[in-house]
Amino acid sequence: MTQVTEHGGGVWSLRVPIPDNPLGHTLVHVLDTDRGPVLVDTGWDDPASWDELTSGLAALGLSVREIHGVVITHHHPDHHGLSGRVREESGAWIAMHAADTAVVRRTREAEPGTWFDYLARKLATVGAPEDHIAPLRAARASGRMRTLPGLRSALPDREIVPGELLDLAGRRLRAIWTPGHTPGHVCLHLEEEHPSRLPGHGRLFSGDHLLPGISPHIGLYEDPDDATAADPLGDYLDSLERIGRLGVAEVLPAHQYAFTDAAGRVRELLDHHEERLTGLLGLLAVPLTPWQLAERMEWNRPWDQIPYGSRNIAVSEAEAHLRRLVKLGRAEPVAGTDPVTYIAV
Ligand SMILES: [Zn+2]
Ligand SMILES: [Zn+2]
Repeated sequence: MTQVTEHGGGVWSLRVPIPDNPLGHTLVHVLDTDRGPVLVDTGWDDPASWDELTSGLAALGLSVREIHGVVITHHHPDHHGLSGRVREESGAWIAMHAADTAVVRRTREAEPGTWFDYLARKLATVGAPEDHIAPLRAARASGRMRTLPGLRSALPDREIVPGELLDLAGRRLRAIWTPGHTPGHVCLHLEEEHPSRLPGHGRLFSGDHLLPGISPHIGLYEDPDDATAADPLGDYLDSLERIGRLGVAEVLPAHQYAFTDAAGRVRELLDHHEERLTGLLGLLAVPLTPWQLAERMEWNRPWDQIPYGSRNIAVSEAEAHLRRLVKLGRAEPVAGTDPVTYIAV
């Protein structure tokens, strides 16, 4: 039986499991509107997750066929995975920010091998050792490329425009662009009085942007055309401050649990990143490639115990921090190095 939580005022959350993932589940929110129920995110594309989603809806007396629309916080497969299937069954529209729609389109249009080539090239650029890159080349050469999640994810029908109210009958839900975790991440501000009259201004569906006990992954945006322009960590910190200023009464995140004191949580995360950037400057007393920096950063376990795929994510996070330090003028690339090393200035 799916765990369903009633949040009051025509809002519920359903726990939809993410198979083989320490995060455990996505909180899919159901928002009642005058034209039918709308989902905020849908969950991972897996038969067991689908069953939980539909049985959660059934517990609310709803069929998936009644879903009127799907609002997506960001394109990641634990949020957007089941959107296509929901649309097939119900005819619902799917709405997403244009920057994440561009990621979906690019991923769908890429040749199967393109991603491997891109990753192999990128890993070489950041100074990954040959024994880390070799398995990618081998997989590419043998043609046994596992289907990656997101390759067939659904193209949205509607664009979420930052600052605007979504077209939802009888509800006031405003889109707030919060890039950082992905380029088109949005939080959704339900600008209605809190059902229990908690002090503050409405409620916030925060996606992965603001979670009570997790600092979301901030890596470089996976954009083959991005040379040095994007600064995802800078984007994230700016978006956090924007969310902190809303003064919401309660946050309804896409993982873990609902919480109050959004401003306090924002402050914690800003402090955490400031400390981390300062720590990295200490490491960069000597020139390091992004890979070498990732090896020396603090993770939730020692580097040699971090699995292959997670190392790629970790090095992307190291790059995002380097990008921020370079933008701030606190670190710079060392001229003539290949792969490029960085040093604190
Ligand atoms: Zn995510
Ligand atoms: Zn997520």
